[in-house]
Amino acid sequence: MSNEQTFIAVKPDGVQRGLVGDIISRFEKRGYKLVAIKMTSPGKAHLEKHYEDLSDKPFFKGLVTYMLSGPIVAMVWEGRDACKTGRAILGATNPLASNPGTIRGDYAIDVGRNVCHGSDGVESAKKEIALWFSKEEIQSWKSAQHDWIYEKP
Ligand code: GDP
Ligand code: MG
Repeated sequence: MSNEQTFIAVKPDGVQRGLVGDIISRFEKRGYKLVAIKMTSPGKAHLEKHYEDLSDKPFFKGLVTYMLSGPIVAMVWEGRDACKTGRAILGATNPLASNPGTIRGDYAIDVGRNVCHGSDGVESAKKEIALWFSKEEIQSWKSAQHDWIYEKP
């Protein structure tokens, strides 16, 4: 299946540091298809919902403050194995443990300023996409490159 979708976001530090274009480019060049994008500044309740699984962590409050500190670029990328490969493109949560060549491994140092977000699986991607985007904001389109990226349809 080449229609798996993942939610990828450039966090406020990534936006401020001018990394939006590079992050988009890495997904595009890998062969993934952009199906939704917007710059947005969601409120506290939305961000607490997004990170609800981490609400008992000591860093939760700081995490929400970090995510509220500026606009975020929210995206949905589509393609085979998009969730798992998207996480590989991002790198490990702690940038100091991220390999060079990954986004976090190239551009970040602190875990609390790790530049980007990516869904950790298909189920969480579905939840996150539904939280950040309406159905109308997600485009269904066939990339002209499709048959040059995938061997089989
Ligand atoms: P992710 O899926 O790789 O983003 O990692 P998690 O879902 O575990 O955590 C969500 C986000 O919380 C991370 O991307 C970091 O921004 C932040 N975070 C995770 N662990 C820590 C931590 O130990 N300290 C701080 N300050 N932030 C953390
Ligand atoms: Mg996570």
